[in-house]
Amino acid sequence: MGKERLPELLDALRRRGERLTTARHALLSVMAHADEHLSADQLSVEVARTNPAIHRATIYRTLETLRRLGIVEHTHLGHGPAVYHLADDVHQHLVCEECGWVVEAPADLFAGVEETLERDFGFDMRANHFAIVGRCRRCAEEGTERVAGDRRTPTQA
Ligand SMILES: [Zn+2]
Ligand SMILES: [Zn+2]
Ligand SMILES: [Zn+2]
Repeated sequence: MGKERLPELLDALRRRGERLTTARHALLSVMAHADEHLSADQLSVEVARTNPAIHRATIYRTLETLRRLGIVEHTHLGHGPAVYHLADDVHQHLVCEECGWVVEAPADLFAGVEETLERDFGFDMRANHFAIVGRCRRCAEEGTERVAGDRRTPTQA
């Protein structure tokens, strides 16, 4: 994503006639520049760094508003809290169960499965709400020589 992302997000809000509050601006700024997906708690910590006056409850409420407006989405990468990403870049998540590595894969990864579920079950699949878990190549390769019990701690429990 280029550095034009934040202005485009703010434009999207304006076009909907939505107010550009300090909290909305701060939250979108953090999300547009984050290198990884953050939970609501982590987002509130990041926002507080630059805007200590914004109350934590306001951050949570703002997240929910942005979700309702279709600007942000949450997803589940594992057992931990839900994490948030911007809805302008839809993708599927692959998470390594052993090291916690997250890969963003193309959104149409399961196009075939989606078609089958729709056709045979009338089921509208939303694959990217939850991550696909498995083992990354590095862990798979290391696993062949690893002794039992010698596991790296996942980054997200
Ligand atoms: Zn959910
Ligand atoms: Zn994501
Ligand atoms: Zn791994």
